[in-house]
Amino acid sequence: MLPEEVLKEAADAVVDYQGDGLSILEIPHRGQKFDSILEESKELVKELCELQGDHEVLWLQGGGRMQFAMIPMNFLGDGQRAGYLDSGHWSRDAIQSANVFGATEVLSSSKQNNYSALPDLPASFPEDLAYVHITTNNTIYGTQWNGLPLSEPPLIADMSSDILSRKREYDKCALFYAAVQKNVGPAGATLAVVRKDMLKQIKRKLPAVFDYREQVKSKSVLNTPPVFAIYVSLLMLRWTKSKTISVLEQESIAKSEMLYNEIDRNSVFAPVVKVKDHRSRMNVCFTAATKEAEKRFADLCHARNIVGVEGHRSVGGFRASLYNAMAPDAVAQLVSVMQEFEQTAT
Ligand SMILES: *Cc1c(COP(=O)(O)O)cnc(C)c1O
Repeated sequence: MLPEEVLKEAADAVVDYQGDGLSILEIPHRGQKFDSILEESKELVKELCELQGDHEVLWLQGGGRMQFAMIPMNFLGDGQRAGYLDSGHWSRDAIQSANVFGATEVLSSSKQNNYSALPDLPASFPEDLAYVHITTNNTIYGTQWNGLPLSEPPLIADMSSDILSRKREYDKCALFYAAVQKNVGPAGATLAVVRKDMLKQIKRKLPAVFDYREQVKSKSVLNTPPVFAIYVSLLMLRWTKSKTISVLEQESIAKSEMLYNEIDRNSVFAPVVKVKDHRSRMNVCFTAATKEAEKRFADLCHARNIVGVEGHRSVGGFRASLYNAMAPDAVAQLVSVMQEFEQTAT
């Protein structure tokens, strides 16, 4: 979701970017206008994530999945092992990609719970791992880590679906990344933030486009970047800064609590994630007692103009995604439709 003011500014820029008749879709990617967009957006990421200067911010392409591949390509050398916390679909996908390049060890998994809870954290991670990978928010199952684990090996985090939604110890990560289409912007751009010392750990000879060192050296313009997606992300970063992370986090707590409270109270619905501490503030998953009731609730949502609450195809039920740009009022509307449904259903 993108705020209306961001959409309007983006729309204006498509017609005429800075009043000289050139559209944002037409500006050159090597030139002063785009340089400023890159510069400001990278500074904002550093500021919003409270980074101390040890990290490089990269705009890349290929989405979350390309990071699943680039990470082991760069950091999992021959004869090494990487550790993964398996909290669901996206973690599994990341593990499969890493298996192409080296050995992986699943440090803990919640597969036996159908991923409706977070995996248990082991007391410590083996020190000889090349890195430890975590998915901070599990978009499909609706679980989320509130904190980051202490890790001797470099910690790498997929933050695709909760970046900038809360204060986090971003600085603790050797690398964190996010496909921007969930919380930062439109599809097409990917953020990767890598600690500079990691660049010395790169094990393989790689084509430049997959090599973090080359991406850093060329300042995110190794090849033609997705100019428009980065520009709209910059507008979102400015919006995020003007709201502030702490206000967005308070709103996020309020929005998710409002919805979980209703799911827990309402006799028709049940939460997918029972352990309150494991519940995601970003993706709230719930089911109704029968398939038939789910169908009727989906129809009622449609009639009340509530869209996009179907669960992921692999889980079913419902999923309300409460990303940064989702207004608290919209959540209150969903809650009132759930109450209406309960009254007609019982
Ligand atoms: C959406 C998502 C991805 C995948 O992103 P793509 O850009 O589609 O590859 C990866 N990780 C998480 C946690 C996601 O939510």
